[in-house]
Amino acid sequence: LQTASPDVLAALQDTFGFSGFRGVQEHVVARVLNGQSTSAVMPTGAGKSLTYQLPAVMLRGTCVVISPLIALMHDQLRSATANGIRAATLTSADTDRMATIDAFRAGELDLLYIAPERASQPHFRELLSSAPVSLFAIDEAHCVSEWGHDFRPDYRLLRPLLDAFPDVPRLALTATADRHTRADILAQLGIPEDGLIVAGFDRPNIRYAIRPRDNALRQLKGILEENPGPGIIYAPTRAKVEQLAASLGATGRRVLPYHAGLDSAVRARNQAAFVASEDMVMVATVAFGMGIDKPDVRFVAHAGIPKSIEGYYQETGRAGRDGDPAAAIMLWGADDFARARQRVGEVEEHRRASERQRLDALAALVETAQCRRAILLRHFGEDPPETCGNCDNCLEPAEVTDATELARKLLSA
Ligand code: ADP
Ligand code: MG
Repeated sequence: LQTASPDVLAALQDTFGFSGFRGVQEHVVARVLNGQSTSAVMPTGAGKSLTYQLPAVMLRGTCVVISPLIALMHDQLRSATANGIRAATLTSADTDRMATIDAFRAGELDLLYIAPERASQPHFRELLSSAPVSLFAIDEAHCVSEWGHDFRPDYRLLRPLLDAFPDVPRLALTATADRHTRADILAQLGIPEDGLIVAGFDRPNIRYAIRPRDNALRQLKGILEENPGPGIIYAPTRAKVEQLAASLGATGRRVLPYHAGLDSAVRARNQAAFVASEDMVMVATVAFGMGIDKPDVRFVAHAGIPKSIEGYYQETGRAGRDGDPAAAIMLWGADDFARARQRVGEVEEHRRASERQRLDALAALVETAQCRRAILLRHFGEDPPETCGNCDNCLEPAEVTDATELARKLLSA
C-alpha cells in the first residue's frame, strides 16, 4: 500500500480540516497523485469524494468529474465550495456555462462536474484539448456496467474521451462491490487490474440484531428506551410511517415523519431538525437518508424487512458514522416475506429470478443462527472471521436456536 507524504497530509488538513485519512483513502490519493489510474470500491459514507477532491486541489489543472445526476453534482459543488475548492458544474440547469468554460480554459478551476452525455459530446472533447486537465474522476462508476442495477448507457460513451487523453489518470469510484461489476468497471474504463482497491465493508461499531416481530409498537418503544440518541426507524409504507410517528411521539420522545408524500418544505424542515438534534427519532420510508450527513445517528431500526441485503447494509450504514457504538435492529414478520414473494411474482419475467435471489439472500440473513456480520460481509465478497462478537447471534447464541426454528417454519410457509 502506498502512503501519502507530509505535504499531502498538510493539504488534507488545510483544505478539509481533517487530521488524517480514513481507511484506503490514503492509498487511493497516493496512487492518483502518482498518475496511476485506479478503481476504488468503498462503501457509502467511506469518503470517496475526498479521493478526487484532494488531488484536484494539489494537481495543476482541473479534475473533470463525471457524475450521473444534476442533484448529486450540485450537492458536491456546495460542499466543495464550502471547503474553498474552486468548483463548477456544467449542466442544463446552469445559466453561467460560458463563464464556467472561460474559467476552465484559464486554469482557474480545481473541479468541473459534468454528466456523461454532455462529456461524451465532440464539443466537450475539443474543450478539453484547450484546457488543462489533471484527472478524470468517474463517480458512481458501476453505471458503466450492465451487471449493476443502475446501468447508464451514456457511461459507455466515455471511453473514447478518456482514451483521447492517455496521460490523464482515471479514478473510478463506486460503492457497488460485486465481482462482475468490479471487473466490468476496469474493462470498460480501461483501468489496469492492479489498480483495483476494495475497502473493507465491515462496520465494526454497529451491533446487528434481527428479531421476529410480535408487537411492533411495543418493541419499538423498547428500542427507543434503550437508545436515547438520534435514530431512524424505517417503515415500509407512508401510512405506516404516519401511524408509527404518531404513536411513538405520544411517548414524549421527539418523533417526526418523513416520506415522499409530504410537502417538500415539511420534508426539508423535518430533515433539518433531525440533523441538528441529539435525541430525535425520524420515522421514514427509504426516501429518507440519501445524502444526509449526520455522523451521530445512534440506531437504525427496521419495522419491516428491507428490500435486499444491499438495502439493509445501506440503511443500517447510516448509524454510527462517527465510529462510536450504534445499533441496527430489524423486526421482521412472515407476512413481510409473503408480501415480498408476491411482489416478485408480479415483476417482469426476466427480472424475476434475480429478484427472487435477492429475497432468498435476505431470508438467509434473517434466518441464520450464525454471525450476522459474517453473512453480510460474505455477501459483499469479503472473507470475515466466523464470529464478530457484536451481533445478536454472537452475543446470545442460546436463545437464537429457538428463534431460528421459528423463522424456518414461518419462512417455509
Ligand atoms: P461517499 O461518497 O463515499 O459516500 P463522502 O465522500 O460523501 O462519502 O464522505 C462522507 C463523509 O465523510 C463526509 O461528511 C466527509 O466530509 C467525511 N470524511 C471523508 N473523509 C474523511 C476523513 N479523512 N476524516 C474525517 N471525515 C471524512
Ligand atoms: Mg459519493
